Amino acid sequence: MCHKCAISGFRAFSSFRCSPSSRSRAFLFAAAAQKRNISIPTTYKAAIVNNHGEQFKIIDREMPSPKKGEVLVKIHASGCCHTDVHAIDGDWPVKSKLPLTPGHEGAGEVVALGEGVSNVRVGDRVGMAWLYSACGECEHCVAGWETLCTKQQNCGYSVDGALQQYAIAAASHVVKIPDAVSYVQAAPVLCAGVTTYKGLKETEVKPGQFVSIIGAGGGLGHLAVQYARAMGMRVIAIDIGKKDYTDSLGAEISVDATDSSCVEKITKYTDGGSHGVLCLATSTPAFAMATNLARRRGTVVHVGLPPGTFPVPIFDVVLKRVSIRGSIVGTRTDLQEALDFAARGLVKVDVKTEPLANINSIFDRLRAGRINGRVAIIP
Ligand SMILES: [Zn+2]
Ligand SMILES: [Zn+2]
Repeated sequence: MCHKCAISGFRAFSSFRCSPSSRSRAFLFAAAAQKRNISIPTTYKAAIVNNHGEQFKIIDREMPSPKKGEVLVKIHASGCCHTDVHAIDGDWPVKSKLPLTPGHEGAGEVVALGEGVSNVRVGDRVGMAWLYSACGECEHCVAGWETLCTKQQNCGYSVDGALQQYAIAAASHVVKIPDAVSYVQAAPVLCAGVTTYKGLKETEVKPGQFVSIIGAGGGLGHLAVQYARAMGMRVIAIDIGKKDYTDSLGAEISVDATDSSCVEKITKYTDGGSHGVLCLATSTPAFAMATNLARRRGTVVHVGLPPGTFPVPIFDVVLKRVSIRGSIVGTRTDLQEALDFAARGLVKVDVKTEPLANINSIFDRLRAGRINGRVAIIP
C-alpha cells in the first residue's frame, strides 16, 4: 500500500462518515493538512536497542500506517528520563520489550489518523506520555485511576516510544499541548512535570500549608518547587549545594541536606513539621528524612524507584499518624492540568536540546547523574 495515500490527509478525510456536516468538516480538515504542508516520508530515523545493556543504534525505519484508534505523530521534541535508562539496561523486575525504542516525553504533531479516530485532528499538537493506553473498564480505570490499570501499555517500555522522528500513539491517550507551550517545554512536562504535579496533589497539602521537597534542585525537583508554589503551597526546598537555585525557583526557605540540624530547623520553622513531604531523592538517608520531616497527620509521597526497600521509623509513623504513599505519573486529566500551568507561565522547564545522534552520550550522562534539568532530543 502506498504510504502517502494511506496515511496522509486522505485517511483523515475518510475517517468521517459522510453526513453533510461531517463532509464539510472533513474538507476543512484535508485543507488544513494541505495548508500545513504535511508530507510524510517513507522512512525515518529511530533510536533502538536490540538487547538490554547495549548501546543505541540509529536505524532507518519504514513509515507505519496508523491502525484503528491510532495516530501517527511527528515528534518535534522528546525528553530523556531516567526511566528510559532502566528500560534499555533491563534492570527493573518487569523487563521492557525488545528491540526497544524508549521515550515517554514525546511532543509532536499529529500527521495521520487511523480508522475511527475523532478526538484529535491532523495538525493537532499532542504529547505522548508513559501511559500509552489503559483498558478503560477495570475498577481503577472506572474510578479515575487509569495509572493503576493492570492492562496498561507503557510508552517506550511495552510499546515503542518517542525517541524517534515519528511514532504511533493511541489516539485515546495523547494529550493536547496548549499553543502557549513550545514542544521543547512541553516534552519534560509529560513525565517529569506530571510526576511532580501529581505527587504534590497526593501530599494533600492545602494552599498556605507547608510542603517539604527533598531533591528540590534536580530535574524533577525544580519543577516540583514551581508547581507547589503555583498551587499555593509554602515550599521548603531541600537539596545539597543548591540554595540559591531553589530560592530563585520560589522556595520560601532552602535548607542544605548535609546540615546535621536540617530536620530540626525545618520542624522549628514550620512549627511542628511539614503537612506534606515530596521525596524525589532516592538515597536511604533521604527516605528516613522524609518521614522525620512530616507533621502530625502529615503525608509523605515517594516517586523515585531505586531497587530494594527503604527504612521507615515506625514510631514516627504510628505516634504521629503519618501516611506514606507512592505516586506514579498522572492521568490524562493530571497531564492536561500540568500543561496548563506551563501555558500560564507558572512553570518553566530547565531544558536543553540535543540531536538524536547524541543519544548514547546523553544516556551515559544520565546514568552518571551528570545532567542538570532535562535534555530533550530534537529528532
Ligand atoms: Zn519519565
Ligand atoms: Zn483498566
